[in-house]
Amino acid sequence: MKVGILGGGALGLAAALRLAQAGQQVNVIEREPRLGGLATGFAVGPTSLEKFYHHIFRTDTTIIGFIRELGLESRLLWGQPNTSTFADGRIVSLGGIPDLLRLPLLPPVDRVRFLAGMAILKAIPDEKGFSGWTAARWMPRLMGRRVYDIMWEPVLRGKFGARADQIAMSWLWSRVHERSLRLGYLRGGFQQLYDALGERIQALGGSITTGVSAERILTHDGNVVVHVDTGQVHDFDRLLVTLPTRLFARLAPALPAEFVQRYPGPEHYGAHVLILGLDRQLIPGVYWLNINDRDLPFLALVEHTNFLPPEDYGGLHLVYLGNYLPMDHPLFGQSETEVLEAFAPSVARIRPGFDRGWVKQHWMFRAPFAQPIVTTRYLDSLPPHRTPLAGVYLANMAHVYPQDRGQNYSLRLGERMAHLILEAPTRRN
Ligand SMILES: Cc1cc2nc3c(=O)[nH]c(=O)nc-3n(C[C@H](O)[C@H](O)[C@H](O)COP(=O)(O)OP(=O)(O)OC[C@H]3O[C@@H](n4cnc5c(N)ncnc54)[C@H](O)[C@@H]3O)c2cc1C
Repeated sequence: MKVGILGGGALGLAAALRLAQAGQQVNVIEREPRLGGLATGFAVGPTSLEKFYHHIFRTDTTIIGFIRELGLESRLLWGQPNTSTFADGRIVSLGGIPDLLRLPLLPPVDRVRFLAGMAILKAIPDEKGFSGWTAARWMPRLMGRRVYDIMWEPVLRGKFGARADQIAMSWLWSRVHERSLRLGYLRGGFQQLYDALGERIQALGGSITTGVSAERILTHDGNVVVHVDTGQVHDFDRLLVTLPTRLFARLAPALPAEFVQRYPGPEHYGAHVLILGLDRQLIPGVYWLNINDRDLPFLALVEHTNFLPPEDYGGLHLVYLGNYLPMDHPLFGQSETEVLEAFAPSVARIRPGFDRGWVKQHWMFRAPFAQPIVTTRYLDSLPPHRTPLAGVYLANMAHVYPQDRGQNYSLRLGERMAHLILEAPTRRN
């Protein structure tokens, strides 16, 4: 079979590799110049850094498997860098049970309730009992209103803003249940994984086309036909689309209107990061800082070089200031200099003494469709993988559920899609 794959992120590349290994002729078409999608890197000094902060968990067994399979295991680094919260104008460590038992944000009785609630969520084996429940209703019953307001509401608000109250409990359960305290990182950047996937696919006879955007998907005479922005037309027996459902619907005019209305795909937020390259450490000992104080203009501060050594990046200390926001939010229209001006006073509130002169380099990245909004009606809007267009399959990171989207789950879904495509009878027999 000739199988076309739209999107050279984790999902598309995993599917392409498994199909190529099964002897199919694959052609990956990726709009950006590099493979990797939302996990793509860019050059900082001698190495590559993700445009958006990335790490993996011990439980991310699929990505660990791919890293091994592609011979990159020696670069996989594990550690337990500190997570903290900035609340009421101070940094409070959430690093482990001793920190949580001393947590100044909560009275002692609530600290115990928080830890007991965490243990219960870890012990609940699946999400089935949470059907129809929002985290905003379920969590106060488990841990009490005060624990919810101080510890959980800011997490949900940080990621989902005005939609925080509508987020499914199954999503929050999965975040607690499935994540490890130990974090992993591919030293030298996750870009290496995506480049290695591309090379392996090519070595198996597959083709990878980057910097080319699919513009139209049609079916004709039992084939799937893809028009791309260079004017070329590709013919496939099967096509796997890994783009967000709303983009797929725009590219495929022959999709029945009832299908498009019935399965619009979930709403998404976009992601925005400003990355500071500093000549010194910003916050000693803290890797991940949740920002609970509502008047600060970013939701997370991630000091990457408190996990990886700054020497890997030519001595720069790298700090992400991140946001998830509606895609029409004014921040997405601001220049890098405007954003830096707007964010710098808040960095100085977190780290008194911070001076703009410490910033030796900076970068800004934006991505639409970066975070599906997982409400209790989420599953209703998800289209099936087999679309009404013969031979056309759809799978994207919104199909990852109930887990928060991540490289691990996109890789896993890519493998599943390869199986699905291989199992389907060919139209010719
Ligand atoms: C801020 C942020 C932080 C994150 N942190 C982590 C983390 O710590 N750990 C983790 O594992 N994951 C993290 N993720 C999630 C992770 O990046 C994604 O889950 C994963 O990369 C999704 O892969 P995908 O292939 O499903 O989708 P995508 O990466 O979105 O791939 C889709 C691809 O389709 C391409 N495309 C779009 N339109 C077209 C077109 N018309 N023609 C051709 N190609 C097209 C896109 O360019 C893209 O490459 C984070 C994401 C964000 C935004």
